[in-house]
Amino acid sequence: MRISQLLKKKGTEVTTVRPEDTVANVVATLAEHRVGALVVSADGETIAGIISERDVVRGLAEGVEVMQKQTSELMTSNVVTCTPEATTEELMATMTEHRFRHMPVTVDGKLAGIVSIGDIVNARVTELEIEREQLTGYISGR
Ligand code: AMP
Repeated sequence: MRISQLLKKKGTEVTTVRPEDTVANVVATLAEHRVGALVVSADGETIAGIISERDVVRGLAEGVEVMQKQTSELMTSNVVTCTPEATTEELMATMTEHRFRHMPVTVDGKLAGIVSIGDIVNARVTELEIEREQLTGYISGR
């Protein structure tokens, strides 16, 4: 399944924070939106970085003062993105290889959605279930 198809169901809205926002603000936004990562962007379109709950936990291990730091100090700047043409199979492989669970989607360098490993696994399970039913029907002549 292509990511464009997945985004049709899920929607293209992406929660972002600004690079100068505090880590405390990141924590509040993660909790409010019930997500595991936020795209860091100054204008809501261009990607400056990504910050996930793992980055916050790592920061907290150094001390609670991290909550007052700027997001830019904790985020990952080298963000791996995909386009809507990518497939769920490809993203599953990329996320497994890089060991992260979130992938922003871009079109012409601008933010156009985000998918998590949970979205990908759900889509793959549905895909494989349909395939299994078709094969069972084919074999049993239904
Ligand atoms: P996650 O598994 O998504 O919670 O992220 C684990 C680590 O990878 C954190 O340090 C994130 O900042 C980083 N990360 C998450 N998604 C991406 C991505 N698409 N590209 C690069 N780094 C990422």
